[in-house]
Amino acid sequence: MTILILGSGGREHTLAWKINQSPLCKALYVAPGNSGTAQIAKNIDIKVTDFNAIKELVLTNNIDMVVVGPEDPLVLGIHDFFLSDQQLKHIAVIGPEKAAAELEGSKEFAKEFLYRHNIPTAAYQSFNKDNVEKGYAFLETLKPPYVLKADGLAAGKGVLILNDLDEAKAELKNMLVGAKFGEASTKVVIEEFLDGIELSCFVLTDGKNYKILPTAKDYKRIGEGDTGLNTGGMGAVSPVPFADEAFMNKVEERIVKPTINGLQKDNLPYKGFVFIGLIKVGDDPKVIEYNVRLGDPETEVVLPRLKNDLVALFTAVSNQTLDEVEIEIDERAATTIMLVSGGYPEAYEKGKEISGVDLITESIPFHAGSIIEQGKIVTSGGRVMAITSYGDSYKEAIKKSYQSIEKLHFDKMNYRKDIGFDL
Ligand code: ATP
Repeated sequence: MTILILGSGGREHTLAWKINQSPLCKALYVAPGNSGTAQIAKNIDIKVTDFNAIKELVLTNNIDMVVVGPEDPLVLGIHDFFLSDQQLKHIAVIGPEKAAAELEGSKEFAKEFLYRHNIPTAAYQSFNKDNVEKGYAFLETLKPPYVLKADGLAAGKGVLILNDLDEAKAELKNMLVGAKFGEASTKVVIEEFLDGIELSCFVLTDGKNYKILPTAKDYKRIGEGDTGLNTGGMGAVSPVPFADEAFMNKVEERIVKPTINGLQKDNLPYKGFVFIGLIKVGDDPKVIEYNVRLGDPETEVVLPRLKNDLVALFTAVSNQTLDEVEIEIDERAATTIMLVSGGYPEAYEKGKEISGVDLITESIPFHAGSIIEQGKIVTSGGRVMAITSYGDSYKEAIKKSYQSIEKLHFDKMNYRKDIGFDL
C-alpha cells in the first residue's frame, strides 16, 4: 500500500515511524514533513490545506491511503473533498468528514453535542455580539474563575480563564465586539470552571465500532510547576497513573460509548481518531473538549505503546471492520520530553544546527520543528524535537529521556525539567 501522511510535526514523524514498521506499507510520503520523516519517507513540500496539490500528488503516486495529522484540513473538509471526486473517492482517508470535524471546529457545536447525548461536561451558554449584555448576566451567575472560549479554531490560544468578574466582562466584549480572535470569536462559549486534573483519552473509530488507545497526560505550560504561557505541549506521559480501571470504565460507559453512538445518531461520518480532553473531578470524568485528530506530543507516547500494525488498523477503520480487531498495548510506560527553541512560545530564532541526534540509543528522537538544510538538521519551529523513552515505570522512562537529552545540543535549547514529577 502507498500511504501519504499530512503534517509536519512530532505527531506526523511518530505516525510515519509506526506506519513504516508495517509490512503492508510499500511506499510512504509525508507532506510537508520534517527532518525526521525525511529519513524514513519521501517528503513533499506542499501545504496540508492545498487540496488540489494533494490531489495531484495522490494521483501521480498512486496513493491508496491518506492519514491526516492536523485539524485544519479536516475542518476544511478534506475527507469530503476526496469523497466528492470521482478519481479520489476510493482512497481511504483517515480523519472525519467536515460535519463531524465541527466537534473541534466549533466549541458551541461540541457543547451542543455533549448536552444532546447526556455526556458529562461543564455547564455553559454561548453568546454573540448581539447579546453581550446577556453574557454579562450569565457571568454574574457563575463563581470565579470564569472560562471564556472563542467558538472557532484559535491555535490553542482562544481560551481565557479569568479570576475577576469585571475583567471577564471586558474580555467577553473584546472577543465579541473587538474581534480579539478574529472570526474565531464571533461566538463565545462561557463555561462553568471545573476543578480537577486533566488527561487525554484517544479513541480510534470507524464510525460504528471503536477501540480505546492508551491514555496520556500532557504538560501545556512553558515553565516548571505548570507556570508561564501555554504552549503546544512540553511533554507527555502514558499511561496516566491516576486513570485506573474503575475510572476508565466510567470513561468508556459515560463518555466513549455515548460519543460514538451520538456520532451515528446525528449522522456525523467519522473514520479516524477522537481525542477526548478529560478532567477528573473527584472520581468522575467530564469532557473539556473534543479534538478530531491525535494530540501532539501525546502521539509520541501513545503510538509507541500500541503493538498493533497501524496500517492494518487504518484499513479496518476504512472498511468499518474495527470490531474484528484486538488492540494490543505494550505494558511499559512511555514518556516524551519536548525540546523547544529559546523564547518559545513567544519570538524565537530558527536555523540552529541540532547535534547529537545520532548519539541517542536509549530513546527515540521524534523530530518536530526541524528540517534538513545542506545535509544538517536545523531548527525550523518552536517545538523542535520530542525525546520518547520506554520504561518499566514512567519514572524510569523519564530518567532515560533526560539522559538522552544530555547528548543533544542546539543554541538556546530549552525544555521542562519536571515532566511527570507531579504524578
Ligand atoms: P487546546 O487546543 O490547547 O487543547 P483549546 O483552545 O481547544 O485547547 P480547551 O481545551 O477547551 O481549548 O481549553 C484549553 C484549556 O483550558 C484546557 O486544557 C483546560 O486546562 C482549560 N479549561 C477549559 N475549559 C475549562 C473548564 N470548564 N474548567 C477548567 N478549565 C478549563
